[in-house]
Formats: sequence, C-alpha cells, structure tokens
Amino acid sequence: MKILKFGGSSVGSVESINRLMKILKDEEGGEQKPLVVLSAMQGVTNLLSEMALMASQGESFEEGLKELEEKHFQVVKQLMAVRSQNPVFTKLKIYFNELEDLLQGVFTLQELSPQTRDKILSFGERCSVLLVSHIAGQYFPDTLAVDASVLIKTDDTFGNARVDMKTSEKLIQEFVDLKRDKFLFITGFIASTVDGKTTTLGRGGSDYTAAIFGSALNASTVEIWTDVDGMLTADPRMVKKAFSLPVLSYTEAMELSYFGAKVIYPPTMMPAFLKNISIVIKNSFNPSFSGTIIQRDSGRSSFPIKGISSINKVSILNLSGSGMIGKAGFSGKLFTLLAQNHINVILITQSSSEHSITFAVHPEDAHQAKRLIENEFELEIAADKLHVPELEGNLSVLAIVGENMKKTPGMSGRLFYALGRNGVNVRAIAQGSSEYNISVIISHNDLSKALNAVHDAFFSSLKTTLHMFCLGTGNISSTLLSQIRKQHEFLKENNDIEIKMVGISNSRKMHFNLNGIELSTWNDTLDNEGEKADLKLFIEEMKNLNLPNCVLLDNTASHEPVKYYEEVFSSNISLVTCNKLANSGSYKQYCSLKDCARKHGVDFFYETNVGAGLPIVRTLKELMTSGDRIISIEAILSGTISYIFNNYVGDRSFYDVVKTAQELGFTEPDPRDDLKGADFMRKFLILARDSGLTLEPEDIVLENILPRNCIDAPSVEAFYAELEASESHFKALKDRAEAENKAIRYIGKLEDGQVQIRLELVDSSHPFYSLSGSDNVISFITERYSQRPLVVKGPGAGAEVTAAGVFAELVNVGHNA
Ligand code: ASP
Ligand code: MG
Repeated sequence: MKILKFGGSSVGSVESINRLMKILKDEEGGEQKPLVVLSAMQGVTNLLSEMALMASQGESFEEGLKELEEKHFQVVKQLMAVRSQNPVFTKLKIYFNELEDLLQGVFTLQELSPQTRDKILSFGERCSVLLVSHIAGQYFPDTLAVDASVLIKTDDTFGNARVDMKTSEKLIQEFVDLKRDKFLFITGFIASTVDGKTTTLGRGGSDYTAAIFGSALNASTVEIWTDVDGMLTADPRMVKKAFSLPVLSYTEAMELSYFGAKVIYPPTMMPAFLKNISIVIKNSFNPSFSGTIIQRDSGRSSFPIKGISSINKVSILNLSGSGMIGKAGFSGKLFTLLAQNHINVILITQSSSEHSITFAVHPEDAHQAKRLIENEFELEIAADKLHVPELEGNLSVLAIVGENMKKTPGMSGRLFYALGRNGVNVRAIAQGSSEYNISVIISHNDLSKALNAVHDAFFSSLKTTLHMFCLGTGNISSTLLSQIRKQHEFLKENNDIEIKMVGISNSRKMHFNLNGIELSTWNDTLDNEGEKADLKLFIEEMKNLNLPNCVLLDNTASHEPVKYYEEVFSSNISLVTCNKLANSGSYKQYCSLKDCARKHGVDFFYETNVGAGLPIVRTLKELMTSGDRIISIEAILSGTISYIFNNYVGDRSFYDVVKTAQELGFTEPDPRDDLKGADFMRKFLILARDSGLTLEPEDIVLENILPRNCIDAPSVEAFYAELEASESHFKALKDRAEAENKAIRYIGKLEDGQVQIRLELVDSSHPFYSLSGSDNVISFITERYSQRPLVVKGPGAGAEVTAAGVFAELVNVGHNA
C-alpha cells in the first residue's frame, strides 16, 4: 500500500486541486487504493494562526474569517457540480461557525493558550480534507474524509506534541481495517491527547502524519507531493546551480532538511526508518519527474557530498574561563539549563583545552540564554573563573552533508579552501563523529557567496562560474572579450569553467549586470546603459556584490587602477593584468602587492607584463620554485626595436626604417617612447625582480640608442628631422656590424646582480643573431640549464597574443577556484 501526502501548495488553488485529481487518477490502476493525507490549503495555517493572535489581542478577526470562507467556497463553486455543492457548503459552514465561536472566546478572554491555538489550527486540515474528499467523490466511488485527530494519540505538548506510536498504530490499523473499501482522505498535522484534546505535530507536521500511517499499515512507500523537484543540493533561491538529488539516505535527508529549505519535516524520517519504508518526494507541478527517493542506502553518487544546507540567521555564545577546565559536568549543567528553558542549541564546539565552549542558538533565544547563564554561573563569574558570556549575532550556519564523506579525507580541506579563498571567515566549526555533516559558522553577509563557492567546489563536474570585472575597453579588452565569447562553449565543456562578465568600465562609462553582460553586445550596452565611470565606485560595487570566484582584469596602461590592487586582494578578489605599471614601480610596492595577494590566498597573474602571451614569467617562476637558480638572463623585449634593426640592413636609411615601422603601427605615436627603452626597462625590471633581485628602476643601466639631438628634439616632427640628419651615426654602427659579420641587437642582460640594457653586436653563434620581425626572445642560463640556455622566443606584442595570454591566466584563476 502507498500513502500519498499532498502539501499546502498541492491543495492551494483550483488548478492545483485539478492537478491532484489527475495524479490520483493515474494512481487508480495500482493494486490497492492509496491513502491520501492532506495539509491545509496553502496559507491557511498561517492565516488561522494570525487570526488567533489578533483575537487574543482584542483585534478583529472578521476579515480573516471571511477570507478563509471565500478561499474554500471558491473551490467548491469551481470544482463541484452545482447540485452537489450544497452539502459541502453546509459542512464547511459548520466548521467555520465552530471556529468563529472559538475565536470569539479568545477575543473575549484576550487569552490564547497553546491548547486553544492547536484547536484553532486544526480547522485548516479538517476543511481541506472535507473539500478534497468531496471533489474526489465526483471521480472515485466511496471517498471518505477522515479526521485523524482521533486516530493519532499524543501527549499534551500543544504545538509540538509527541506521538504515542503504539496506541496510534493500533487505532489506525483498526480503523483502516473497518473502512478497507473506502478511498480515505486523511487530515495531516492534527492529533489528540488521551482525553480528546486536539494537538498538533509541529509546523509541517502533515508529512509526519503520512509516515505514521505508513508505519501503522506497513506501507511500501510514502509519497510526499510538494512544489519542488525533490530535495536539492542547496537552497535554489541562493544557489542557482542547485540540482535535485535522486537518492538520499534517511540520515542525509534528516541533516539536509533540518537546516535549509523545508522540503520535508525531519521527524517524518523516524517511523519510515524504523519500518524501512521509502519516502519519495514528488513535485505535483511536474509529476513525471522522478523526484527524490529517501531510503536506507544512500546510493551511489559521483559527488563526495549530497548537499549543502544552511541556517540563515543564528547567534553564538562563547563561554570561556579557567573554571571550566577539567571540571566534569560543566557542560551538562549548561545545556540542561538551556533545555529546561526550551532553548534549542543548534551547534556546539568545545576547544580541547576545555577553556571555551561556543554554541549557536536562534537569534530570538540569544539574549535569554545569555541572561540565564549569567544568573546560573553568577558566582563563577564574580570569582573570575568564568568570563561574562560573549554574544555575537548576524551569523549563519553552512553545512555540507553526505554519507560518502565518511572516511574520505580531504572533505574539510576542500570546504575550507573554498571558504578561505573567497575570504569567508569561519567563526566556529563542528563535525559530528558520524562524519555525515561538517558545519561552519560564518558571517551572514557572506552566506550567499559561501554557499555558491562551496557548491562549485564540491559539485565540480558542474561549471565553476568565474565572476569577472573588466577595466579598460581598448584593443586588448575587445580582443579578449571576443576570444572569450568564441571559447565559451569549449571552456564549459573542457575546462568546466564559465566566465561571466559582471562589470566593465572604461574612463568614460561603467556598467554592471549580475546575470552577466552579453559579450557580443557589451560595447553598445556600455554606451547606452552605462553610467558615468568612477573607478572608486566601480571597485566599491565589485566588493559589495561579494560574489564567489571573483576576478578583476586590469587591461589599462594607467596608474589609477594600481592604487586599488591591495584593496582588491584584501577583498579576496584575484587579479589578472597586462598593465606593467604595478610591478615596475617601487620595489616596495612590488613586494607589498605580492605579499598582499599571497596573504589573502588569491591569484595575481601578470604574464602579459613581459613579452605578451609568451610563457616567460611563468617559466621563470617554475624554474625558481623547482629549486633552480638563475645565473643570467638575456633578453630582447622590445618588438619595435627588433623590427627596426632587423630591417636596417639594406639601403634604406635608419630614418626610413623608423618611419615605416610607425606607419605599420609598430611604434608608439612618438617613436622615442620605444627607442628610449623605457618600456623594455619595465619588462626587464619585472623579470629581474621575479628572479630574486632587489632593484629600483634607476638601478638599471639603460643605454640610449638615440644620439642626444634626437632625444632633445621638441616635437615628433623635429625628432624625425634630427633622425634624418643623424644617419651617419647609425650607419657607422651598421658598417661595423657588417664588417664583423654581426647583427645589431638591443639586449637586456642580468648578470651578477647587475642589469644593463645595451646595444650589442652579436655573431652567428649567439642565439639572438637570427631573430626575425618583431620577435621577443629570452634566454635563461641557470644551474640546470648551464650548458645550453633555455630559450623562449616568439611574437611579443600585439592584441591577439596579449589577449590570449590574459585569457589563459583567467582560466587558471578558474582552475584554482
Ligand atoms: N498545515 C500545517 C502547516 O502549515 C501542516 C503542514 O502543512 O504540513 O504547518
Ligand atoms: Mg507543509
């Protein structure tokens, strides 16, 4: 036999009751009639509760009563044939009159006892069962509304009564035996004491009723019909990527439903567990979906955990002091005290030094708990053996749950890595020795970020979402964004990474979109929807959004963004940049940026600072971390100068070559910016620092390619004139090179702690001799590469390759997430 339980949303409206009928029709083919357990119509229990409260405060409850009647009558009018409506109206009216009398009593006395409250609440289920059984009577023979309060016997803890299973099971069996030929519609939630007073089983208790019936009748399955696709990996309101779980064990379901979204009432699991009855959670809005099965065996799963649950708001109390050490019974006394005062303790941790105990309670209980402790331990506090309890609010609990965690090392590591990397501070930790649950207490402000980051970390075959913020919309950004757009699907498939651009800004405008800015139209979006750019506000907004796996791109060549780098790292946001200015400023700044990023566990990637996309910074870093030592580095890092000397070989004058280089877009608007070597110097400085040298920019000896008159020329035009006039200077150099069979190269050299950038003549045995076009080349001589150098060579400039370098690092940030 099957028990089908329908929650409030499945009897919430005309449409849902129609859906319910359809589900029952589909069940008809089964061998045995199922038993149907029903909740009150959606919102009705809350409404009754409010009316009771209002009456007790001497306020009018008439409107509520009218709303209640209307809600039920509407359904009768729309779903029942006119001639059969009257008896139902009459029966409902009797209930409403009874309810009104009760509320009137409360109103007169201005007093609401838990007992009366339960009686008032019971009308929700009674009405819904009456209603639905009659509607069902139009399609099925012999339907019967059953008030289960006479069958389920409890103690007199009104509001949350304890069930006497033995008596109840017997009563249920006898009753169902007698009515075997009927199609039963049974009230959930309500019960009664031995002397017949109405009780309730706790909010959400209809699920429990279903399980009690299941247990009494040895049902094969209890189906809980609700409005979501079963139990999910996390609360879908906070974690968009949450997905439904096909199988859970009773314990897992209990852990997941205790916290988080209440898909099922936790006590429901007990009777089912004892009788090994499977519980299936189904969606009445999506009946063909298989839902979640809860059973003894937790089933195979490719994921290490089943889900993540959370409690939105908790407070913690921290007790510390020497008086606790080695004193047996202290915590016993503490928690008995709380229990006696009905304060529910959510989580407890104690340090092994026994010097402190921290526990979490609901915020409403926190102040009372603090007061109780202060009174109870007054003497200890006065004697300074115990400190005054510290109370902290605005916290949340996040827990990972799953039986597979048992005996699997690395689970807590993964949890804390995800939290740490995203800058989520953990206030307290608890792991049950069952190893089914690891709970952490964190700031409430971080909850959403933490849930998403942890979800990404454990369900890694889903995609990690990288939240990207982009500064600069020039050549490199545009190229990068179109590269990302083209690679989007590939990344999702092959790297499990999804890049979502949440914010973008140039010097004029900025724009944010939490759902991701469309990459094919970002340009127009920024123009049309963007607000006035303000870097400070941009950074503020990025921080305030507090998104997980967050990365800032600095694709500018400006000093401004650099000022915010440390603030960005301190907010646990990674940074990828092709902007050289940060690392080539003062040595102090270089170090403090690196330290700051390291301290906060975020990535600071700047491969494209040197040689665009060529793997130079990375290669150097890998050499160093593997324990190699740099002996010398030689490099050509100016594509522009390479191009010029590679072409200054025939009849053309130096002036001609520079002019052509400019026309081809190889130089800055003022070619002297390249020829003076400042850009080269910055790149080489970064390399030298990365190889371990403490250097300031002025420590680098930079030889000038240009004679004085060219450097001093007041304008670009004047410069060209001087250049033309200085041909003999360059020709002498070229002739010498030709005579010696050598090539002219502008080379940076690091050796014995010294860095020089000079013009050199190299012969054909030198690795830089045969360099073509605008290539960069870097040659490392190290302890391991001492005979022949390790050489990296290739195009070291241009938007395509630079953007590609930035892109690769972005993906690496995703992999580290
Ligand atoms: N109607 C009751 C409540 O809202 C019981 C239930 O829905 O399970 O709590
Ligand atoms: Mg419910």
